[in-house]
Amino acid sequence: MRNKVQIITYADRLGEGTIASLTDVLRTRFSGVYEGVHILPFFTPFDGADAGFDPVDHTSVDPRLGSWDDVTELSRTHDIMVDTIVNHMSWKSRQFQDVMRQGESSPYAPMFLTMSSVFPEGATEADLAGIYRPRPGLPFTHYQWGGVTRLVWTTFTPQQVDIDTDCEKGWAYLVSILDRLSASHVRYIRLDAVGYGAKQAKTSCFMTPKTFALISRIKQEARLRGLETLIEVHSYYRKQMEIASKVDRVYDFALPPLILHALFTGRIDALDRWVRIRPVNAVTVLDTHDGIGVIDIGSDQLDRSMHGLISDDDVDALIEAIHRNTHGESLAATGGAASNLDLYQINSTYYSALGCDDQRYLAARAVQFFVPGVPQVYYVGALAGANDMELLRRTNNGRDINRHCYSTAQIDENLCRPVVRSLNALCRLRNALDAFDGEFSFSRDDGSLIFQWKGKTSRARLAFNPRAALEDVEGGSRSMVSLHWRDSAGDHHTDDLLNDPPVVAD
Ligand code: BGC
Repeated sequence: MRNKVQIITYADRLGEGTIASLTDVLRTRFSGVYEGVHILPFFTPFDGADAGFDPVDHTSVDPRLGSWDDVTELSRTHDIMVDTIVNHMSWKSRQFQDVMRQGESSPYAPMFLTMSSVFPEGATEADLAGIYRPRPGLPFTHYQWGGVTRLVWTTFTPQQVDIDTDCEKGWAYLVSILDRLSASHVRYIRLDAVGYGAKQAKTSCFMTPKTFALISRIKQEARLRGLETLIEVHSYYRKQMEIASKVDRVYDFALPPLILHALFTGRIDALDRWVRIRPVNAVTVLDTHDGIGVIDIGSDQLDRSMHGLISDDDVDALIEAIHRNTHGESLAATGGAASNLDLYQINSTYYSALGCDDQRYLAARAVQFFVPGVPQVYYVGALAGANDMELLRRTNNGRDINRHCYSTAQIDENLCRPVVRSLNALCRLRNALDAFDGEFSFSRDDGSLIFQWKGKTSRARLAFNPRAALEDVEGGSRSMVSLHWRDSAGDHHTDDLLNDPPVVAD
């Protein structure tokens, strides 16, 4: 994966609502800032029950957004990442509708999982209670199956019916998606929710050996088609480390809450430790289209005796601090308070979680860009967006708090804000210096974490002192970050990313 900053965005929420318009925005407004783009699901339909994660046809572009030709066109200037939704498809899909009509006589019947296909001998209470799920309750929904009511496996929403990847038809469907993506010059695939993709009786059905086998099978097929794989799993941090050793790339989902924890408490031990042990074949993020994952730093949900990167009390304090900083907005959008609840995520924009504080936000981004891995910035974060309470009210979907639709005019307005200009400058610096492809070193000095990169023609050093964030509140003036870099134009330095952003030599 090219080590340049990528943006994560919906095709219809950044610009005038089509892939062609998104392409224009990226080529003009963000030229040199984002060199890759993860386009969130744009398949038919892009606006279903789970904002595109419930396609009826994963191999067709929703015509309201454009066509595969538009994707190919965008690939001429940007590395493209696309979701491969391994675990499920929409109940409205042609295949599932056929099963509903014909039941067992449908050729697609083996493609979908029911309770009895996973538990042919029946299930005990312990079997069912042991299934791990990102939502409350059991993963089954009543559906008509050729005139009979069956319990169909639905890990996420009732509208997302799980696919049996063991069966030939299910597998062929997945492979057809990979063929389609590679034909359109997509370079990277994000294996959505793959942790739930392999079911087996008497297991948690989450990240079991069978799941690892599934991941490596998909990875092989992807490689044959020139596609690199990013695994999306929110889980206990040790599980993430285990996954990382077996795949191309993993998300570093522990980083966003750990940076918040450092900025809220002034403590650096947990972040320090994580930087030393974390996998480096990572994609780093602060924000995505989902909430801020806290499961990634807490104790193991399946065995509380396995400690997290911070204590569970500290996780609770972190969540409380986010709710306070957002004046309760995140609380109104999280868990049972709004539908589409996800048990282990706090719904808020990252900027709002930091109390819309520009300096803290830029400090967090600077740390993200200096931690090894390929950085991605979510489009709302790219525009330092605050929570969208209006959209949340309209849809009552918690995640919508962080899914604002920006018209081109709104993008332009936001691009004039100093915080957005500075973020763009940081991205340009991250893209321009060969230091970030060089040697990394990390140390601790008093209350600061020091990240250093050394390349053939440039160097960069970031000192991060989150205690200063607290002193700022008390009227102090020390800066949270101190950035030094050397490029062909000489040595440079800034302690104030907001008012004195980095300028890179041409
Ligand atoms: C995606 C979510 C989606 C879920 C089910 C996740 O991993 O990021 O947005 O709801 O998978 O597809």
